[in-house]
This record gives sequence, structure tokens and C-alpha cells, in this order.
Amino acid sequence: MATATRKKTTRKKTTRKKTTTRRAKTDKKVYYFGPSKTDGDGSMKQLLGGKGANLAEMTDIGLPVPPGFTVTTETCADYYKVGGKLPAGLMDEVRENMKRMERDTGKKFGSDSDPLLVSVRSGAAASMPGMMDTVLNLGLTDKSLDGLQSATGKTRFALDAYRRLINMFGDVVMGVDHHAFEDEFDRIKKKHNAATDNDLGVEGMEELVDAYKKVYKKHTGEQFPQDPYVQLEKSLEAVFKSWNTPRAIRYRQINEITGLQGTAVNIQTMVFGNMGDDSGTGVAFTRDPSTGKNEFYGEFLINAQGEDVVAGIRTPKPVKEMPRWDRRSYDQLIKIKTKLEKHYKDVQDLEFTIERKKLYILQTRNGKRTGPAAVKIACDMVKERLIDQKTAVLRVPPNDLNQLLLPSLDPKAKRDVIAEGLPASPGAAVGKLAFTAAEAADRTQDGEKVLLVRRETSPEDIDGMHAAQGILTSTGGMTSHAAVVARGWGKPCVAGAGAIHIDEKKRKITVNGRTFTAKDTLTLDGGTGQVLAGEIATIEPKLSGDFATLMKWADRMRTLKVRTNADTPEDSQRARDFGAEGIGLCRTEHMFFEGSRIKAMREMIVAETEAARRKALDKLLPYQREDFIGIFTAMKGLPVTVRLLDPPLHEFLPHDAKAQQDLAKTLGIKPAKLKQRVAELHEMNPMLGHRGCRLAVTYPEILEMQVRAIVEAAMACQKKKVQAKPEIMIPLVGTAEELDLLRGLAEQTIASVKKEHKHKGRLDISIGTMIEIPRAALTADDIAEHADFFSFGTNDLTQLTFGYSRDDVGTFLGDYLAKELLPKDPFQSLDATGVGQLVAMGCEKGRKTKKDLKLGICGEHGGDPSSVEFCHKVGLDYVSCSPFRVPIARLAAAQAAVRNSK
Ligand code: ADP
Ligand code: MG
Ligand code: MG
Repeated sequence: MATATRKKTTRKKTTRKKTTTRRAKTDKKVYYFGPSKTDGDGSMKQLLGGKGANLAEMTDIGLPVPPGFTVTTETCADYYKVGGKLPAGLMDEVRENMKRMERDTGKKFGSDSDPLLVSVRSGAAASMPGMMDTVLNLGLTDKSLDGLQSATGKTRFALDAYRRLINMFGDVVMGVDHHAFEDEFDRIKKKHNAATDNDLGVEGMEELVDAYKKVYKKHTGEQFPQDPYVQLEKSLEAVFKSWNTPRAIRYRQINEITGLQGTAVNIQTMVFGNMGDDSGTGVAFTRDPSTGKNEFYGEFLINAQGEDVVAGIRTPKPVKEMPRWDRRSYDQLIKIKTKLEKHYKDVQDLEFTIERKKLYILQTRNGKRTGPAAVKIACDMVKERLIDQKTAVLRVPPNDLNQLLLPSLDPKAKRDVIAEGLPASPGAAVGKLAFTAAEAADRTQDGEKVLLVRRETSPEDIDGMHAAQGILTSTGGMTSHAAVVARGWGKPCVAGAGAIHIDEKKRKITVNGRTFTAKDTLTLDGGTGQVLAGEIATIEPKLSGDFATLMKWADRMRTLKVRTNADTPEDSQRARDFGAEGIGLCRTEHMFFEGSRIKAMREMIVAETEAARRKALDKLLPYQREDFIGIFTAMKGLPVTVRLLDPPLHEFLPHDAKAQQDLAKTLGIKPAKLKQRVAELHEMNPMLGHRGCRLAVTYPEILEMQVRAIVEAAMACQKKKVQAKPEIMIPLVGTAEELDLLRGLAEQTIASVKKEHKHKGRLDISIGTMIEIPRAALTADDIAEHADFFSFGTNDLTQLTFGYSRDDVGTFLGDYLAKELLPKDPFQSLDATGVGQLVAMGCEKGRKTKKDLKLGICGEHGGDPSSVEFCHKVGLDYVSCSPFRVPIARLAAAQAAVRNSK
């Protein structure tokens, strides 16, 4: 016994090692799982796909998994490499493994006594629910049909299985239009007076099988294949092909799944949930994936095949009701829940089928969950000692915290509940009704907020589902397609609101006598399942409980500091509440747009002499000072990096003729003069030209005014016992000389303002620059001579390194992403290979000159988890991001520290 166990672990270790140390390419294309042997294990997701790897792992830990085998993802890649042909030798290996399956099950593929039937299932390394096609009941032929009938004693069941196979094989493998089969089904049901599918008796079923064969022949020009190996080979190829269908490609794009080589194919012994009332099928989560509550959670259908639950055709029953139907299977399932969680140390999402009271597990994977559920589960599992704090911190995808930071419906607001469905994915969504996925996508593109309303959703709908604010379905359960996909994205969803009748053609819904059209606004409460008329008020989230606990752990683990980009006292305060440790970027230009400020600003811009400019600047000074006082006060002693004026001046002037005329009047100048000034200031390319520190070179008085405002604001705060810590940041520096000049000017101004106000005591104001021009990164050692800090402005640095504009994301960059020329939008996620090199170089050269040079980043990337990891690795002191992303950056920084320790 002891030796046997030891032997087993050794075998496992060696397989594990094989995959982690870049497996030398072997010829092995097929991995078996079953009672006689298991070739793979759970660590081999890249090669066997998630489904295949876990089927092997579950077999290994003794769960009741029907035996089968997995054709590797590498084989799929090879299939595409040779232009869409099954690799040589594959079918031989498949046949060998089929023989083993026959021995393990005691049945024979295609036999006329007790035939072995199989399913052909896809499964890539990343889960793509329902994105690719599955064929069930494969191996049925005229001959084996007799075998199935006599072995089970169930003629109708056997016929039903056969007609399903002809339909699925025809549809999925041969591309026969599904409706061609449906029409025949309807015709025959009518003829036999059968109201539902289940009412059709043996005679009708026999007719149906014949009719389906004819449909098959008519659309394919061939007979339905009577050689089970032909069925198998063609299905295998169909799964490979399904990897590159438009909907699969689109799904990978939306979910940013890249770098996979293809799908694996699982061939598995069929078990039947549709053999009568002692059979059934279901889907379950080991914990509630919406709330995270530690409660077995799922649904089942009696006398049904797996597809029926997911497709949302019949609304299933909650698993809680299972004991009344089959207590033994339920108890066994609960034991399996605990075993799976202990083994995988995470929430599992599993598929099960009961064939004549015997339970089988058909799939397990880590369960997709909402942000709030992820946080609760991580904290609970630490309490239960299933995982440690570090693992808990790694468990929550930082971006999912978004869902905890969003407003929720005000419980005090009045609710006009028009219908109730299942609380499939929490959160509040408000929008007008859209009746097709395409409509939802189009109207969202046009700037509308819409809710997608469907009877049920299917994988073709994902674009519109993604675009919509929320999803409402009238059929289907908590594990229907709509529910699973919505939870994955953290998008609010109410499913199975049966009282709602959807009229897609007339584009309206009716519910209890009330009608709502595309013009009406509804609110979905995904947390309760309520559908409400009108728009309901929302409240700010609470940042306590498990969220606070997790963030406390994260803060202890991280070394990167997190600042925020804010330019109003309100944003500064919010960011502080979210845990910001300073402001990394306070843009000053936004301060010039409000109310009467813009007038003074425009006066300054059109002024023709320095004296006139100074006069206008004097009007701006008090505004600017007040703004800084507000921000310094909100930040209570935390550092605030103020960036001096950055955009080109024409951005502050009106561009249409009418507005220009009005402005000329207010400013008391000739319209022609103003027009000329606007033309002078126009930039051909707003990324280049007269902006950033170049403005201060031409108009030093602008810099003087801004620095004066900063110093005076800091002094005013000191008087009120608020310790202000301003840092002056000079933008768009490309040469050391520029910074040398402007730093001198700023220092002079600081000194003279202090003198003017007879300031005593400490007031340290550091002066640094943004590194956002490639030349600045290349000469960072020289620039550092004049800088107390660097802040990498990775938005501009990305624009200037790639030569892309940020606006290109809306045009050709879309094609680049679709064709995987770029792994991700480089404006969202820092391009570590290219732009990252400049950042790394800037850090290294800068610190060579000044050991204690403070380094940060203030582009959009500061709130993107993978970019944060990069910042951690190159040794920045802090990242800075928008207030709502502060918690995300804190968590990402902790994850980076944990992953990169050791
Ligand atoms: P997906 O990845 O879309 O969930 P699956 O391969 O899991 O596709 O299969 C679709 C449905 O068919 C599931 O409900 C699954 O449980 C069921 N199914 C697959 N293989 C078998 C089998 N061997 N016996 C019974 N049901 C099966
Ligand atoms: Mg599945
Ligand atoms: Mg910039």
C-alpha cells in the first residue's frame, strides 16, 4: 500500500516537471484518463486545456469521472500549421485509446450489443464557456442503435439519443442549418398531436430519426455516416475548426485571451441524464459566485442532457431541492464539494450528471465570480485555513475591485418593481431597452446607455452583452449563458424574469399589463433580481468589512507607494479615502476653464506684450492660489506634485467663427486679430509643437505666476497649521538645458515670494520633471543633475515612442489588436518591451547621477495591474492613477511584491 502511494506521487512529480521546464516536444498527441491509467494532471492546462487537465486530475483523486482521453492543444496548432489537416498518426493514437476505453467500460464503440458512446468536447487553456461546440452521443449508428435499445431496454431514449446526434453532428460538424431539423420536428409533433418534445412517443421518434437522416442527406449530399470512426474523425476536426470561428475569436478579444495555441479535444464516455426520472443533470458552484457566501449553489434538471441547463431552454431547480429527489446523490455531491475545495483550494464550478441514480462529475474549473464574491471568498478561505494571506491577496483580480467601488441602488429610494427574476449578477444597471445584441452594440456606440433584453442569450450575443449596461432575460437560470458571462465581467444581470413577455419584432416588452419600449428606461438590481421602472438613485459604496481586511493585508505586502492624479479638492479627498498616499499628478490646465477664469486666460493668450500678459496673469493668480489651498488642505501633509501648464495654448481658444466673434467683442479686440492669433497658435500635430516647458521658455511669466500661486498657497496653509508639501513638476523636458533654465527661474520665484512675505521656517519645495520624451529618457543622467524627482509620463512617452496618437485607438489600432500585432492597447497597458526599456533606462541613468532620485509614474498606466507590476520590477517609488483606481493599484502593487519576492 505504502509503496503504491509513493509510486503514484513520484509519477506525478515527473509529469509536473515535464510541463514546467518547457516540455520537449514529444510525439504524444493523446492523454488518457480512466481507471486503468491517467497520463495527464491538473498542471497541464496549456497542453490539455483546462477541461482535459482537470478531468485527469479528478480521475486521479478518485472522483467518479467517465473515462476518456484528451487530444492536445499542440495537435490543434499542428492542424493549423499544415493548412487544416489532421496530423499523421493522430487517428492511430485515437484508436489505441478507444480500445483502452472499451476495456475500462466493458463496452464497444459501434457495437450492436452494448455500444460505447462518447462525447466530443472542446476545451482550451482558458475557459471560454459555450464558445465552442460539443457533440454528444457519438458512435450511434443504425447498428449500435439496436444495441443501445437492447442494453438499456429503453427504445424511446435510444431513438431520442440518435436523433440528437444526427442533429448535432449535422449542425456542428457539417454546417446543416439547425432550423432544417427543427422544422421536421415541428411537423412530426403536429402530426402526432404532441404538445412538447417529451410527448412524442416511440413511433413518432422513429419517424423523426428517418426524417433527420433525410434532412442530413439533402443538405450534405451524403448519408449520415454509419462508421463510428468516421463520425469521430470528423467531429475532432470540427472542434479544431471551432477554435477560429468569428465568435470564438471575438470572445478571446473581449477577454484579452492571447498566446494560446489552440483547443484540446476531449473524447469521453457518455453518461445519460435523460434516461428517465431517476436521471438528471446539473451545474453547481462550491460557493455562491454572486455573493461569495459559503453555500453549495447550483441547479439541476430531471431527465435532461447537460446542454439543456446551460442553454436556458428549461428553467432548472435549485440544488437545495435535490435531496427530496435523490438524497444519496446529493450527499455524495456535498462530499465532493468539500473534497474539490480542499484539493484545488479554490471555488469550483462543476458539471454533474446522474444516470439511473449514479452520480458522475463531468467537469470542474475554478469558478468565475463577481468582485465582491472574490473578496469575500479570499477572506473566508484564510479564516478556514484553506489558503494564507498572500494567496488571498493574489486571488482577487485587481480590476474586479471596480465592482466594489461602484455605486449601488439607494435602499431608501422608491422602487416601482415591474418584475422579479433571479439575482444572476449583482450591481445596478440603468438604461433604455435594446432588443438584439446588434442593437445594444450600435446604440451604445452612439453614446446611449442600454439594457439588453432577451428571452435567453447565446454566445453570438456577446458583443451586445458586453456593450450593454446590464442584461435581462426572461428564461434561464443562475447558470444560464447570460448569468455566467455577466458574472465573469461583473456586469449586472437579472435572469429568468418569466413575467416579462418580449416582443422582439415590435421592440417592446409587456409585463402585468404594462408596456415598455426602446425609449423607456428601466433599472436592474442584479443583487435582488428586481426589475424597476425608471432610473433609481444610487449611493456610494462602503469600504469596510472584507474589503478593508484584504486591503490591509495588501498594504502590508507592497513596497510601491500609490498616489493619485487629481486636480480638485473633491477628487483629492476621494482618493485619500481610497488610500492614496499623495498626488502624483495635479494638472493645472483644467483650472483655467471654469467660469470667469477662461476669460482671463484668453486675455493672457491674445495679449501682445509682456505687460499685458502679466496683467491677465495677475487676474488668474488668486484663482490658482485658492485651488492649491483647497488641494493641499485635502491632502493634509501628503506630497502634491503640481505640473506646470502643459497643453498648447490654442486649446483654450474657441475655434468656430461665431464664438470667435463673441470673444473678440468681450476682449475688445478686432475679430480679424483674434482669428489671426488662433491661426498662429494652431498646431498641425498636437503631440509636437509649442507646449509643455516650451511655453515657459517663451513666456516665463506664466511659470512665475504658477510658482507664486503654489508658494503662496503653501504658506497660507502653514498659517492654518496644514503642512503643505508641494512638488513642482516641469513637463515635456527633452534636454538638461531646458530644465536647468526653468528650475533656475522657479527657484528664483520661490525665493522672492518667500522674501516678499517675510517667510520664516521651513518650506521645502522640490522641483522635478516628467520623463515623457524619448530623448529625456536617453539623457536622464544629465537631466537628473537638475531634478529632485522624475515622473514618467507614459501617455506621451507611448505616443512618441510608437508614433501613435492616443486617438488612433479608435481607428487603426483596433485592427492591430484584432490581428494580434499588439498584445494589448499600449495606452492601457504599458508596452514593457519597448516603452518599458525607456522607463528602465531613465531610472537607471537617473539614479546613477542621484542615488536618492525619487521615481514615479503618472500616465494612465499607473492604474493598470500589469503595468504596476512592471513599475515594481524597475524599482519605482510610486505609481499614480485616477482616484477610482487607487485601490486597484494598491492590490496590484501587493501582488507584484508577492510574485516577485523570492
Ligand atoms: P462547454 O465547455 O460549453 O460547457 P462541454 O464540453 O462541457 O461544453 O459540454 C456541453 C454539455 O454536454 C455539458 O453540459 C456537459 O456536461 C455535457 N456533456 C459533455 N460530455 C458529456 C458526457 N460524456 N456525458 C454526458 N454529458 C456530457
Ligand atoms: Mg462545460
Ligand atoms: Mg504629457
